[in-house]
Amino acid sequence: MTEAGGHVPSAASGRQVPAAVDLIRAKRDNVPLSGHEIDWVIGAYLRGEVAEEQMSALLMAIYFRGLDPAELRAWTRAMIDSGERLDLSGVGLPTVDKHSTGGVGDKVSLILAPLVAACGAAVPQLSGRGLGHTGGTLDKLEAIRGWRAALSNDEMLAVLRQAGCVICAAGAGLAPADRRLYALRDVTGTVESIPLIASSIMSKKIAEGTGALVLDVKVGSGAFMRREEDARLLAQTMVALGTESGVRTTALLTRMDTPLGRAVGNAIEVEESVATLAGYGPSDLVEVVLALAREMLRLVGIDADPQEALADGRALARYREMISAQGGDPDAPLAVAPHIRTVPAPAEGWLGRLDARAVGNAAWRLGAGRARKEDPVSAAAGVLCLAKPGDWVHEEEPLLELRADDESRFDAALAALGDAFEISQDRPALPAPVIDQIGPAGG
Ligand code: URA
Repeated sequence: MTEAGGHVPSAASGRQVPAAVDLIRAKRDNVPLSGHEIDWVIGAYLRGEVAEEQMSALLMAIYFRGLDPAELRAWTRAMIDSGERLDLSGVGLPTVDKHSTGGVGDKVSLILAPLVAACGAAVPQLSGRGLGHTGGTLDKLEAIRGWRAALSNDEMLAVLRQAGCVICAAGAGLAPADRRLYALRDVTGTVESIPLIASSIMSKKIAEGTGALVLDVKVGSGAFMRREEDARLLAQTMVALGTESGVRTTALLTRMDTPLGRAVGNAIEVEESVATLAGYGPSDLVEVVLALAREMLRLVGIDADPQEALADGRALARYREMISAQGGDPDAPLAVAPHIRTVPAPAEGWLGRLDARAVGNAAWRLGAGRARKEDPVSAAAGVLCLAKPGDWVHEEEPLLELRADDESRFDAALAALGDAFEISQDRPALPAPVIDQIGPAGG
């Protein structure tokens, strides 16, 4: 709490309100902020009463000093209270969502939402767009002709009732404080802070109104969190925030050292998702999808086998229903890249490593991703991994297929790949894709 001298009377009400500079000093000096101070500073920032440079300084102080559990709860609550909270009670089914911290080739949502819906739960997935080397679920689905990401709350509920699942953009009314703060963090070097990431993600998920939530916290070269200890701390922090807010929340830590599945891009990932829903998915992708589906169903108390719903076509039928309900044509041909370049294996041996971040960067350079959030993305660009770690490859055999709308993209993509792969004479050990499950402390 700041000292009383740091509070000034509000002109409008005569009530004592904190002065932003005192909150910055307090945080800088590791003095915890009160719930009232946090509510005030976020509200005043949104009203334009706290300057951008003051909020920037406060974010940097939080980056270095962190937030204790009470501060983190208050910070998250203030972000939720900055907007509306959806009421999904009219859906008539238990609601459960999944959030991924983002990875390369992470097309899990496209398969998981219809799969869990086919097992009897309702899945409201408010998703985002890609930035940098990771792809975004909305960008992938926008490769489908006619599909709409922007739905009103009523439209979202209607799709959820009809198909049992919906994947759409979070509306502007949901946690608007996060939108402003995230943009500011992006340009002030304060994104990589566990309390700021946890409150950003969880404010949106709690405001969305889901009853249960499974977090897919990715670990490895292609993930936000490269070290397992950081991913574990982020997962524990988010699980605690969800649980305290009455959302049954758990997390899985999953590996992101190599792309998930074989496809990295937009249309190419839709294609692989549909193949997976039809029963032809790559084993690592299927394993992660089934682990998340089982956890989601366990949280809402539904005793169903997701493997069966994948095998018998029920999940694919839900997917088609969801795409059609959002204006998409699930049978429309997907964009095909006019230019293809393959990357051959330099030697014979076992593919020991295929680096997720390098492949993600290559896909981005090919046009599948964006550097700034307003940039367009190419539907057809991307990378197909023709070999995965653990495969035996022959010299000159194609390892990667690069796809682009424009041939001039290939040089930058090849440069981004750098030393993305390693060929070894020793058979590599392949770690399981799911590392651990994180539940509520003491739960
Ligand atoms: N995703 C979010 O929504 N917020 C963050 O801070 C980081 C990733």
